[in-house]
Amino acid sequence: MEAAEASSLGRALCVVTGASRGLGRALCVGLAALLAPGSALLLSGRAEAPLRELEALLRRDWPRLRPRALPADLARPHGAPLLLRAAHEALREMEAHGAPPETLLLLNNAGSLGDISKSFCELTDAAEVGAYLDLNVTSALCLTAGLLQAFPARPGLRRTVVNISSLAALQPFKSWSLYCTGKAARDMMFRVLAQEEPDVRVLSYAPGPLDTDMQEEVRTKSRDPKLRQIFLEMKEEGKLLDCDVSARKLLDLLLADTFESGAHIDFYDP
Ligand code: NDP
Repeated sequence: MEAAEASSLGRALCVVTGASRGLGRALCVGLAALLAPGSALLLSGRAEAPLRELEALLRRDWPRLRPRALPADLARPHGAPLLLRAAHEALREMEAHGAPPETLLLLNNAGSLGDISKSFCELTDAAEVGAYLDLNVTSALCLTAGLLQAFPARPGLRRTVVNISSLAALQPFKSWSLYCTGKAARDMMFRVLAQEEPDVRVLSYAPGPLDTDMQEEVRTKSRDPKLRQIFLEMKEEGKLLDCDVSARKLLDLLLADTFESGAHIDFYDP
């Protein structure tokens, strides 16, 4: 299919982490419109109620899709395996209907800031650092690896993996040691994947400053007063992005499918 003509991702099996709110939720709503009937959409997050509400909304608006809420804590060892089991079940269900997926799409979107009220020199608790990395690095790695193992390359299957990244992967911000480290590690991890698996389409997408719960934490809890002020002004001046707008940019990138695998692309990139 010519990139300029693409308007659908075909019949897909999609896994979206952090689907309960913010960017992840907006991505699910935007994605649903691009999926062919019979596609499965696995919705991950910890909060069960908003996931069920999203599942119901998608079922109502797109009755021929198969959305499924999967509440789980990805910082815990059972989180990624639970999603993998659900992906196997979704695959079996699609195959049973004689319609296996043409696209496997994983959006690694779940994330946290860590304790941004602490300076670098206050991060002495290995358990705290480990728990941060468990969610923000380890779970993304294990989920991606497990899914690619479960869905090996085969003719007619396009496999795409997205890492929701950040400017913080490239640029240091005071008191964001954990966040910057996690995002930088993820970008590199996915660059290695792109090198190892040339048939897998890999993208690190930095969504820009979004008007979400995470942003509220940034402007109220960042240790550095100047940083708090910058983000407070962005909020007050209406400069934060709507999640739907940033989600649209990512979905357009996936539809066009012309990015270099492993690339880091920012919302503000032309
Ligand atoms: P939010 O804080 O609004 O949402 C975070 C999502 O991650 C929620 O759905 C949350 O679900 C999920 N999540 C958090 N912890 C866990 C966990 N332990 N297990 C499973 N799911 C978890 O964040 P945003 O929507 O703002 O951010 C989405 C992504 O975009 C993140 O990766 C973030 O780093 C990135 N980003 C955000 C920017 C911004 O300005 N907001 C800027 C640049 C990048 P639940 O609470 O239900 O578990």
